[in-house]
Amino acid sequence: MVRHYETLTVESVRVFLEQHDTLVNRLGSRSETWTVREVSDGNLNLVFLVQGPEGSVCVKQSLPHVRVDPQWRMPLDRTAFEAEWLRRVELTAPGCVPVFLLFDPVMFVLVMECLEGFVTFRQALGEGADAVGPSRMIGGFVARTAFFSSLPGRTLEEIMPNVSFFANNTTLMRITFDLVLSDPFYSHHRNHWLKELDQEVAVLQSDEAIARAMIRLQQRFLTCPQALLHGDLHSGSVMVRNGDVRVIDGEFSLYGPIGFDCGLYLANLVLAWAAARSGGRRAHLAEAMDVFWSGFRKDFLSLWQTHASGGDLFSEVTFSVYPSLLEAERERYIDGIFHDMTEFAAAEIVRRLIGYAQVADFDWLTGTVERADRQREALVFAGHLLREAPGSMAEFVGRLTG
Ligand code: ADP
Ligand code: MG
Ligand code: MG
Ligand code: MG
Repeated sequence: MVRHYETLTVESVRVFLEQHDTLVNRLGSRSETWTVREVSDGNLNLVFLVQGPEGSVCVKQSLPHVRVDPQWRMPLDRTAFEAEWLRRVELTAPGCVPVFLLFDPVMFVLVMECLEGFVTFRQALGEGADAVGPSRMIGGFVARTAFFSSLPGRTLEEIMPNVSFFANNTTLMRITFDLVLSDPFYSHHRNHWLKELDQEVAVLQSDEAIARAMIRLQQRFLTCPQALLHGDLHSGSVMVRNGDVRVIDGEFSLYGPIGFDCGLYLANLVLAWAAARSGGRRAHLAEAMDVFWSGFRKDFLSLWQTHASGGDLFSEVTFSVYPSLLEAERERYIDGIFHDMTEFAAAEIVRRLIGYAQVADFDWLTGTVERADRQREALVFAGHLLREAPGSMAEFVGRLTG
């Protein structure tokens, strides 16, 4: 058995899996009959899908560098955080994530259920698939995972050790802080964009109100450990098959502001909206945005009602003589999440258009001018969100759809 870290290959994945009886049993006993396929498509890790006569598994391994840039060195521990995130979320949102099977802390390998026949939600969105159903499900997913990992839903004794554990995921926090919340807002060598957008980029990077919003967002991200977040909840971290939805890729998990997860998801719907092939499709995506937020809000508030004495914050035990005050304060908490969500969404839109890691949604538009026109719509919308926060989801969608 290999007891030091080694980057897996299509051949050595087989050898690695053979060492674990439970995985051999799951796949079917003779490893020569397994087929191994590499499907890595993210910036950071190796992912293999292994199919045997009895079943299949997905094998994910951290690389010691950014996958798409070997010069950019990276510590390996991120799969440990993903494994821990997966185990916790399996309990709070059962059925919403692939089943956890194994974590090897020497090889930094995570083995989980293979989602057979699923495609990324980003791909499905590009092919015109339903966006409303998955958005409702993700709204509920964020509500459940946030509620049961935060002080409204749990005691401080239950929460604080987790805050401490996930605080060690600093490498990936640094990536988010730099790539999402910093670099795109000033002149940085990692930024790139279509030259047709030069003027809009110059405006974004020299606006005091936007700088003020970004200073606030950086603080929210690093100093507001409300709940255990996914941390990278874009449409490539969601997989779909007919009506089934699963969330994958929790390596960026951290304790942070709930509006961050909401904002990333929402931003990727906005990007899909900007890249959409028709007006009807845009209307469908706008509906998905509304359904996502209203679903999150409804589920979070209803968990609060049914688990009224579960947590230390906003406790009905402590404040039972002030029921209307408590209800108003809960509403204010949700309003705070909404405000964070719209601003984090704006930051995500901007970075996906002019930052290091961009999205494939616009790739079908072969003409640069039209592609730039679509991206400009999203960029201008994001700038407006940062300058002036909308008061409601109706206002958010209204601004987008004009
Ligand atoms: P990265 O962290 O490098 O972005 P991901 O976890 O997003 O890696 O996985 C990369 C790709 O591998 C996904 O886009 C998806 O196509 C595939 N994939 C990941 N996990 C699974 C799984 N459990 N079942 C099937 N395919 C998966
Ligand atoms: Mg990914
Ligand atoms: Mg990832
Ligand atoms: Mg503001």
